[in-house]
Amino acid sequence: MALFKPEKPSVLSENLTTLADRLKGMGEQGFRAKQVMEWLYKKNARNFAAMTSLSTKLREALAGQFSLLPAKKILAKQAGEGTEKLLLELEDGLYIETVILSAPDGDEAEGGARMTLCVSSQVGCAYGCKFCASGLDGWKRNLEAGEIIAQVLLAADHIAEKKAGLRSRTLSGIDNVVFMGMGEPLANYENVTRAVEILNADWGLGLGARRITISTSGLAPQILKLAENPIQLRLAISLHGATDEVRGTIMPVNKRFPLAELLPAVAAFAEKHGRMVTFEFILIEGVNDGLDQAEALAKIAQKLHAHVNLIPYNPVEGLPWKRPNILRQRAFAGVLKKANVSHTIRRQKGDDIDAACGQLRLRKEREKGNADLALN
Ligand code: SAH
Ligand code: SF4
Repeated sequence: MALFKPEKPSVLSENLTTLADRLKGMGEQGFRAKQVMEWLYKKNARNFAAMTSLSTKLREALAGQFSLLPAKKILAKQAGEGTEKLLLELEDGLYIETVILSAPDGDEAEGGARMTLCVSSQVGCAYGCKFCASGLDGWKRNLEAGEIIAQVLLAADHIAEKKAGLRSRTLSGIDNVVFMGMGEPLANYENVTRAVEILNADWGLGLGARRITISTSGLAPQILKLAENPIQLRLAISLHGATDEVRGTIMPVNKRFPLAELLPAVAAFAEKHGRMVTFEFILIEGVNDGLDQAEALAKIAQKLHAHVNLIPYNPVEGLPWKRPNILRQRAFAGVLKKANVSHTIRRQKGDDIDAACGQLRLRKEREKGNADLALN
Protein backbone atom coordinates (compact mmCIF):
# COMPACT_ATOMS: atom_id res chain seq x y z
CA MET A 1 0.00 0.00 0.00
CA ALA A 2 2.75 2.41 0.92
CA LEU A 3 4.45 2.06 -2.47
CA PHE A 4 1.86 3.91 -4.53
CA LYS A 5 3.04 4.11 -8.14
CA PRO A 6 0.51 5.92 -10.28
CA GLU A 7 0.24 4.89 -13.90
CA LYS A 8 1.28 8.41 -14.84
CA PRO A 9 2.73 11.01 -12.48
CA SER A 10 0.73 14.21 -12.07
CA VAL A 11 2.10 17.31 -13.73
CA LEU A 12 1.06 19.11 -10.53
CA SER A 13 4.03 17.50 -8.75
CA GLU A 14 6.55 19.25 -11.02
CA ASN A 15 8.40 22.50 -10.44
CA LEU A 16 9.70 24.68 -13.24
CA THR A 17 13.10 22.95 -13.38
CA THR A 18 11.88 19.35 -13.21
CA LEU A 19 9.20 20.03 -15.83
CA ALA A 20 11.71 21.66 -18.16
CA ASP A 21 13.96 18.59 -17.75
CA ARG A 22 11.07 16.24 -18.46
CA LEU A 23 10.18 18.22 -21.58
CA LYS A 24 13.77 18.12 -22.81
CA GLY A 25 13.76 14.37 -22.21
CA MET A 26 10.69 14.18 -24.45
CA GLY A 27 12.57 16.03 -27.22
CA GLU A 28 10.72 19.30 -26.55
CA GLN A 29 12.04 22.75 -25.69
CA GLY A 30 12.51 23.38 -21.99
CA PHE A 31 11.07 26.91 -22.06
CA ARG A 32 7.65 25.44 -22.78
CA ALA A 33 7.56 24.51 -19.09
CA LYS A 34 6.77 28.11 -18.27
CA GLN A 35 3.81 28.07 -20.65
CA VAL A 36 2.51 24.85 -19.15
CA MET A 37 2.72 26.35 -15.65
CA GLU A 38 0.85 29.40 -16.87
CA TRP A 39 -1.94 27.22 -18.19
CA LEU A 40 -2.07 25.28 -14.94
CA TYR A 41 -1.87 28.07 -12.40
CA LYS A 42 -2.92 31.29 -14.12
CA LYS A 43 -5.35 30.16 -16.79
CA ASN A 44 -6.80 27.28 -14.77
CA ALA A 45 -6.60 24.58 -17.45
CA ARG A 46 -7.94 21.31 -16.11
CA ASN A 47 -6.82 19.15 -19.03
CA PHE A 48 -3.97 19.29 -21.52
CA ALA A 49 -6.27 19.73 -24.54
CA ALA A 50 -7.26 23.15 -23.17
CA MET A 51 -3.66 24.44 -23.46
CA THR A 52 -4.33 25.89 -26.87
CA SER A 53 -1.13 27.95 -27.20
CA LEU A 54 0.82 24.67 -27.29
CA SER A 55 1.01 22.54 -30.42
CA THR A 56 -1.37 19.59 -30.66
CA LYS A 57 1.67 17.32 -30.73
CA LEU A 58 2.98 18.71 -27.45
CA ARG A 59 -0.43 18.56 -25.80
CA GLU A 60 -0.76 14.94 -26.81
CA ALA A 61 2.77 14.17 -25.63
CA LEU A 62 2.05 15.78 -22.25
CA ALA A 63 -1.17 13.82 -21.88
CA GLY A 64 0.80 10.66 -22.67
CA GLN A 65 3.34 11.35 -19.93
CA PHE A 66 1.33 12.99 -17.17
CA SER A 67 -2.03 13.03 -15.50
CA LEU A 68 -3.36 16.44 -14.57
CA LEU A 69 -5.72 16.23 -11.58
CA PRO A 70 -4.83 13.13 -9.53
CA ALA A 71 -7.93 13.45 -7.31
CA LYS A 72 -11.63 14.09 -7.69
CA LYS A 73 -14.24 15.63 -5.44
CA ILE A 74 -16.84 13.14 -4.39
CA LEU A 75 -18.60 14.93 -1.56
CA ALA A 76 -18.93 18.43 -0.12
CA LYS A 77 -20.49 18.96 3.29
CA GLN A 78 -21.45 22.42 4.49
CA ALA A 79 -21.81 23.46 8.12
CA GLY A 80 -23.64 26.63 9.17
CA GLU A 81 -20.63 28.38 10.63
CA GLY A 82 -18.48 28.81 7.56
CA THR A 83 -16.86 25.38 7.43
CA GLU A 84 -17.08 23.21 4.38
CA LYS A 85 -15.43 19.89 4.04
CA LEU A 86 -14.50 18.21 0.77
CA LEU A 87 -13.98 14.48 0.53
CA LEU A 88 -11.62 13.65 -2.34
CA GLU A 89 -10.85 10.30 -3.94
CA LEU A 90 -7.32 9.57 -5.12
CA GLU A 91 -6.39 7.47 -8.15
CA ASP A 92 -5.85 4.37 -6.00
CA GLY A 93 -9.29 4.70 -4.43
CA LEU A 94 -8.13 6.11 -1.08
CA TYR A 95 -9.83 9.13 0.44
CA ILE A 96 -8.50 12.39 1.82
CA GLU A 97 -10.11 15.49 3.26
CA THR A 98 -9.73 19.17 2.58
CA VAL A 99 -11.53 21.77 4.69
CA ILE A 100 -12.52 25.29 3.64
CA LEU A 101 -12.83 27.65 6.62
CA SER A 102 -14.35 31.10 6.12
CA ALA A 103 -14.14 33.81 8.73
CA PRO A 104 -16.48 36.76 8.19
CA ASP A 105 -13.90 39.39 9.21
CA GLY A 106 -12.16 39.65 5.85
CA ASP A 107 -11.75 42.54 3.43
CA GLU A 108 -15.10 43.83 2.06
CA ALA A 109 -13.57 44.46 -1.35
CA GLU A 110 -12.57 40.82 -1.45
CA GLY A 111 -16.08 39.62 -0.71
CA GLY A 112 -15.92 40.09 3.05
CA ALA A 113 -14.54 36.75 4.16
CA ARG A 114 -11.10 35.46 4.97
CA MET A 115 -10.70 31.97 3.65
CA THR A 116 -8.31 29.35 4.94
CA LEU A 117 -7.82 25.99 3.29
CA CYS A 118 -6.76 23.08 5.46
CA VAL A 119 -4.97 20.40 3.40
CA SER A 120 -3.97 16.81 4.12
CA SER A 121 -0.39 15.64 3.67
CA GLN A 122 -0.74 11.86 4.09
CA VAL A 123 -3.45 9.21 3.96
CA GLY A 124 -3.85 8.31 7.62
CA CYS A 125 -1.06 9.03 10.09
CA ALA A 126 1.57 6.89 11.78
CA TYR A 127 1.95 9.04 14.88
CA GLY A 128 -1.10 7.72 16.72
CA CYS A 129 -1.87 10.68 18.98
CA LYS A 130 -4.49 9.33 21.36
CA PHE A 131 -7.08 12.05 20.69
CA CYS A 132 -6.92 12.20 16.89
CA ALA A 133 -9.11 10.48 14.28
CA SER A 134 -6.42 10.64 11.59
CA GLY A 135 -4.21 8.09 13.25
CA LEU A 136 -6.96 5.66 14.28
CA ASP A 137 -6.50 3.29 11.36
CA GLY A 138 -2.77 3.90 11.00
CA TRP A 139 -0.77 5.28 8.12
CA LYS A 140 -1.54 4.30 4.52
CA ARG A 141 0.79 6.39 2.39
CA ASN A 142 2.35 9.77 1.72
CA LEU A 143 0.65 12.17 -0.64
CA GLU A 144 2.52 13.23 -3.75
CA ALA A 145 3.08 16.99 -4.12
CA GLY A 146 0.53 16.97 -6.97
CA GLU A 147 -2.08 15.42 -4.69
CA ILE A 148 -1.58 18.30 -2.26
CA ILE A 149 -1.79 20.92 -5.02
CA ALA A 150 -4.88 19.14 -6.41
CA GLN A 151 -6.62 19.78 -3.07
CA VAL A 152 -6.05 23.51 -3.56
CA LEU A 153 -7.25 23.51 -7.18
CA LEU A 154 -10.33 21.41 -6.43
CA ALA A 155 -11.23 23.63 -3.48
CA ALA A 156 -10.73 26.75 -5.64
CA ASP A 157 -12.97 25.22 -8.34
CA HIS A 158 -15.56 24.32 -5.72
CA ILE A 159 -15.61 27.87 -4.31
CA ALA A 160 -15.77 29.36 -7.81
CA GLU A 161 -18.70 27.09 -8.76
CA LYS A 162 -20.61 28.47 -5.81
CA LYS A 163 -19.72 32.13 -6.25
CA ALA A 164 -19.42 32.42 -9.99
CA GLY A 165 -17.81 35.66 -11.07
CA LEU A 166 -16.97 37.03 -7.63
CA ARG A 167 -13.23 36.53 -7.83
CA SER A 168 -10.57 35.15 -10.09
CA ARG A 169 -10.58 31.39 -10.08
CA THR A 170 -6.91 30.75 -9.52
CA LEU A 171 -7.27 30.65 -5.76
CA SER A 172 -10.92 31.77 -5.65
CA GLY A 173 -10.12 33.98 -2.68
CA ILE A 174 -8.27 31.38 -0.58
CA ASP A 175 -6.05 33.58 1.61
CA ASN A 176 -4.19 30.97 3.63
CA VAL A 177 -3.22 27.33 3.24
CA VAL A 178 -2.55 25.34 6.41
CA PHE A 179 -1.16 21.80 6.57
CA MET A 180 -3.49 20.78 9.39
CA GLY A 181 -5.55 18.09 7.71
CA MET A 182 -4.75 14.44 7.85
CA GLY A 183 -1.17 13.30 8.28
CA GLU A 184 2.13 14.57 9.64
CA PRO A 185 3.54 16.98 7.03
CA LEU A 186 7.13 16.79 8.22
CA ALA A 187 7.08 12.99 7.85
CA ASN A 188 6.46 13.63 4.13
CA TYR A 189 9.10 16.32 3.93
CA GLU A 190 10.07 16.28 0.25
CA ASN A 191 6.54 16.21 -1.17
CA VAL A 192 5.26 18.80 1.29
CA THR A 193 8.11 21.24 0.65
CA ARG A 194 7.65 20.78 -3.11
CA ALA A 195 3.94 21.58 -2.70
CA VAL A 196 4.87 24.66 -0.65
CA GLU A 197 7.23 25.75 -3.44
CA ILE A 198 4.44 25.43 -6.04
CA LEU A 199 1.97 27.28 -3.79
CA ASN A 200 4.43 30.11 -3.28
CA ALA A 201 6.23 30.47 -6.63
CA ASP A 202 5.51 33.26 -9.10
CA TRP A 203 5.16 30.63 -11.80
CA GLY A 204 2.85 28.68 -9.48
CA LEU A 205 -0.06 29.79 -7.33
CA GLY A 206 1.74 32.89 -6.05
CA LEU A 207 0.53 32.60 -2.45
CA GLY A 208 2.68 34.60 -0.02
CA ALA A 209 4.90 32.40 2.16
CA ARG A 210 3.46 33.97 5.31
CA ARG A 211 0.09 32.66 4.24
CA ILE A 212 1.32 29.07 4.36
CA THR A 213 1.47 27.22 7.69
CA ILE A 214 2.87 23.79 8.44
CA SER A 215 1.62 22.16 11.62
CA THR A 216 3.73 19.39 13.14
CA SER A 217 3.46 17.03 16.06
CA GLY A 218 7.09 17.89 16.76
CA LEU A 219 9.64 16.06 14.58
CA ALA A 220 12.69 17.91 15.89
CA PRO A 221 15.21 16.97 13.15
CA GLN A 222 12.80 17.97 10.37
CA ILE A 223 12.03 21.25 12.15
CA LEU A 224 15.77 21.99 12.06
CA LYS A 225 15.87 21.07 8.38
CA LEU A 226 12.89 23.32 7.67
CA ALA A 227 14.65 26.16 9.49
CA GLU A 228 17.26 26.04 6.70
CA ASN A 229 14.59 26.26 3.99
CA PRO A 230 14.56 29.80 2.57
CA ILE A 231 10.76 29.93 2.19
CA GLN A 232 9.40 32.09 5.02
CA LEU A 233 6.45 29.91 5.90
CA ARG A 234 4.82 29.77 9.30
CA LEU A 235 5.27 26.94 11.75
CA ALA A 236 2.74 25.62 14.26
CA ILE A 237 3.67 23.03 16.85
CA SER A 238 1.06 20.66 18.26
CA LEU A 239 2.14 20.78 21.88
CA HIS A 240 -0.97 19.58 23.77
CA GLY A 241 1.03 18.94 26.93
CA ALA A 242 3.42 21.34 28.67
CA THR A 243 5.39 18.64 30.50
CA ASP A 244 6.82 15.36 29.20
CA GLU A 245 4.59 13.51 31.61
CA VAL A 246 1.32 14.88 30.22
CA ARG A 247 2.45 15.16 26.59
CA GLY A 248 3.85 11.63 26.70
CA THR A 249 0.51 10.14 27.73
CA ILE A 250 -1.34 11.51 24.70
CA MET A 251 1.39 11.88 22.06
CA PRO A 252 3.64 8.84 21.54
CA VAL A 253 6.00 11.04 19.44
CA ASN A 254 7.08 12.70 22.69
CA LYS A 255 9.08 9.58 23.58
CA ARG A 256 11.21 10.05 20.47
CA PHE A 257 11.44 13.81 20.72
CA PRO A 258 10.85 14.92 24.30
CA LEU A 259 10.47 18.60 25.14
CA ALA A 260 14.19 18.96 25.85
CA GLU A 261 14.84 18.13 22.20
CA LEU A 262 11.75 19.66 20.62
CA LEU A 263 11.85 23.11 22.20
CA PRO A 264 15.44 23.97 21.16
CA ALA A 265 14.55 22.97 17.59
CA VAL A 266 11.53 25.30 17.70
CA ALA A 267 13.74 28.08 19.10
CA ALA A 268 16.22 27.54 16.26
CA PHE A 269 13.42 27.81 13.70
CA ALA A 270 12.05 30.99 15.30
CA GLU A 271 15.50 32.53 15.34
CA LYS A 272 16.28 31.69 11.72
CA HIS A 273 12.93 32.92 10.48
CA GLY A 274 12.69 35.88 12.83
CA ARG A 275 9.04 35.39 13.57
CA MET A 276 6.67 33.96 16.12
CA VAL A 277 5.82 30.30 16.03
CA THR A 278 2.46 29.07 17.31
CA PHE A 279 1.91 26.39 19.90
CA GLU A 280 -1.37 24.58 19.42
CA PHE A 281 -2.82 23.28 22.63
CA ILE A 282 -6.00 21.18 22.52
CA LEU A 283 -7.86 21.41 25.81
CA ILE A 284 -9.00 17.94 26.91
CA GLU A 285 -10.95 17.60 30.12
CA GLY A 286 -9.01 16.07 32.98
CA VAL A 287 -5.98 15.37 30.77
CA ASN A 288 -4.17 18.64 30.09
CA ASP A 289 -6.55 21.40 31.20
CA GLY A 290 -5.24 21.87 34.76
CA LEU A 291 -3.83 25.22 35.82
CA ASP A 292 -0.41 23.64 36.46
CA GLN A 293 -0.30 22.83 32.73
CA ALA A 294 -1.32 26.41 31.95
CA GLU A 295 1.54 27.70 34.11
CA ALA A 296 4.06 25.40 32.44
CA LEU A 297 2.73 26.34 28.99
CA ALA A 298 3.01 30.04 29.81
CA LYS A 299 6.68 29.56 30.73
CA ILE A 300 7.46 27.73 27.50
CA ALA A 301 5.64 30.33 25.38
CA GLN A 302 7.33 33.23 27.19
CA LYS A 303 10.75 31.77 26.67
CA LEU A 304 10.18 31.28 22.94
CA HIS A 305 8.05 34.42 22.42
CA ALA A 306 5.47 32.12 20.90
CA HIS A 307 1.75 32.53 20.31
CA VAL A 308 -0.59 29.96 21.87
CA ASN A 309 -3.70 28.74 20.11
CA LEU A 310 -6.06 27.01 22.54
CA ILE A 311 -8.36 24.53 20.80
CA PRO A 312 -11.29 23.14 22.77
CA TYR A 313 -11.22 19.41 21.96
CA ASN A 314 -13.47 18.28 19.13
CA PRO A 315 -14.95 14.93 20.24
CA VAL A 316 -14.14 11.92 18.04
CA GLU A 317 -16.53 9.00 17.70
CA GLY A 318 -15.20 6.02 19.62
CA LEU A 319 -12.70 8.02 21.73
CA PRO A 320 -13.36 8.83 25.40
CA TRP A 321 -12.02 12.39 25.48
CA LYS A 322 -14.16 15.44 26.23
CA ARG A 323 -13.93 19.19 25.87
CA PRO A 324 -13.68 21.06 29.18
CA ASN A 325 -16.54 23.44 29.99
CA ILE A 326 -16.23 27.11 29.14
CA LEU A 327 -15.27 28.12 32.69
CA ARG A 328 -12.31 25.77 32.72
CA GLN A 329 -11.29 27.00 29.27
CA ARG A 330 -11.40 30.59 30.54
CA ALA A 331 -9.47 29.78 33.70
CA PHE A 332 -6.76 28.16 31.59
CA ALA A 333 -6.61 31.14 29.24
CA GLY A 334 -6.55 33.45 32.28
CA VAL A 335 -3.18 32.05 33.33
CA LEU A 336 -1.74 32.85 29.89
CA LYS A 337 -3.21 36.33 30.02
CA LYS A 338 -1.71 37.01 33.42
CA ALA A 339 1.68 35.91 32.09
CA ASN A 340 1.25 38.24 29.09
CA VAL A 341 1.36 35.38 26.62
CA SER A 342 -0.20 36.15 23.24
CA HIS A 343 -3.04 33.66 22.83
CA THR A 344 -6.38 32.90 21.17
CA ILE A 345 -9.13 30.39 21.84
CA ARG A 346 -10.24 28.84 18.60
CA ARG A 347 -13.97 28.88 18.02
CA GLN A 348 -15.44 25.46 17.48
CA LYS A 349 -16.54 25.01 13.94
CA GLY A 350 -18.08 22.24 11.99
CA ASP A 351 -18.54 19.67 14.74
CA ASP A 352 -21.68 18.55 12.96
CA ILE A 353 -19.81 17.66 9.81
CA ASP A 354 -17.04 15.65 11.42
CA ALA A 355 -14.64 18.53 11.04
CA ALA A 356 -11.93 17.29 13.36
CA CYS A 357 -9.19 16.03 11.13
CA GLY A 358 -9.62 12.61 9.65
CA GLN A 359 -13.12 11.85 10.81
CA LEU A 360 -15.09 12.13 7.59
CA ARG A 361 -12.57 10.08 5.67
CA LEU A 362 -12.41 7.47 8.41
CA ARG A 363 -16.15 7.00 8.25
CA LYS A 364 -16.04 6.68 4.45
CA GLU A 365 -13.16 4.16 4.56
CA ARG A 366 -15.03 2.10 7.12
CA GLU A 367 -18.26 2.24 5.12
CA LYS A 368 -16.32 1.07 2.12
CA GLY A 369 -14.66 -1.68 4.17
CA ASN A 370 -18.06 -2.80 5.41
CA ALA A 371 -19.47 -2.72 1.89
CA ASP A 372 -16.52 -4.81 0.67
CA LEU A 373 -17.16 -7.28 3.48
CA ALA A 374 -20.82 -7.42 2.56
CA LEU A 375 -19.92 -8.20 -1.05
CA ASN A 376 -17.61 -11.04 -0.08
N1 SAH B 1 0.06 16.08 12.13
C1 SAH B 1 0.10 17.48 12.26
C2 SAH B 1 -0.93 18.22 11.42
C3 SAH B 1 -2.32 17.65 11.35
S1 SAH B 1 -3.27 17.69 12.83
C4 SAH B 1 0.00 17.88 13.71
O1 SAH B 1 -0.27 17.01 14.53
O2 SAH B 1 0.23 19.04 14.00
C5 SAH B 1 -3.74 19.40 12.92
C6 SAH B 1 -4.15 19.83 14.31
O3 SAH B 1 -5.41 19.27 14.68
C7 SAH B 1 -3.15 19.38 15.37
O4 SAH B 1 -2.85 20.40 16.28
C8 SAH B 1 -3.92 18.26 16.03
O5 SAH B 1 -3.40 17.99 17.28
C9 SAH B 1 -5.33 18.79 16.01
N2 SAH B 1 -6.37 17.81 16.30
C10 SAH B 1 -6.35 16.48 16.05
N3 SAH B 1 -7.48 15.90 16.50
C11 SAH B 1 -8.22 16.89 17.06
C12 SAH B 1 -9.49 16.93 17.71
N4 SAH B 1 -10.23 15.84 17.85
N5 SAH B 1 -9.93 18.12 18.18
C13 SAH B 1 -9.21 19.25 18.01
N6 SAH B 1 -8.01 19.27 17.39
C14 SAH B 1 -7.52 18.11 16.93
FE1 SF4 C 1 -1.02 12.47 13.23
FE2 SF4 C 1 -1.21 15.08 13.83
FE3 SF4 C 1 -3.27 13.39 14.31
FE4 SF4 C 1 -1.05 13.22 15.77
S1 SF4 C 1 -2.46 14.97 15.67
S2 SF4 C 1 -2.17 11.48 14.87
S3 SF4 C 1 0.52 13.69 14.25
S4 SF4 C 1 -2.45 13.95 12.32
